[in-house]
Amino acid sequence: MFDHLPDGRQSLLGITAEGDEAWLIRSVSQKMYTCPGCYGGIGIGDVHVVVQYVLRNGGTDHHHWHHRCAHEILVPELRRLKPVAAGQAGRSKLEQRGKRPAGKRGRRAPRR
Ligand SMILES: [Zn+2]
Repeated sequence: MFDHLPDGRQSLLGITAEGDEAWLIRSVSQKMYTCPGCYGGIGIGDVHVVVQYVLRNGGTDHHHWHHRCAHEILVPELRRLKPVAAGQAGRSKLEQRGKRPAGKRGRRAPRR
C-alpha cells in the first residue's frame, strides 16, 4: 500500500501489537547495521529504514531495517498505518514525544 515509503518527504506511522508507536523514517547509513528482519548487513551509504519506537509508557527505541524487510516483516504487524510528513518524524521530536506516556501526548508532536 505504501511500499515506496518512507522517502525523503514522507515517513510512516503505525501502532505495534503492544500499543507502541512505530515511526518508519528513510535514512542513509553512516555506519554498519544488522537488519533485525533478515540479519543481513546494511552498509555505509545504504538507503534504509529507521524504525523509531515511541513506547506507550514513555521512552524510545530504534532499529535499522532494509526497506524491503521492513515492508515484508514489520509493516504487516502494524495497525493504523499512515503516511506523515517527514518533518514530523525527526529523532529529537520523537524523543521529546517519548518523555510523556501515550495518554498525555497532544495530537501534535511538541514544539521546541
Ligand atoms: Zn533485512
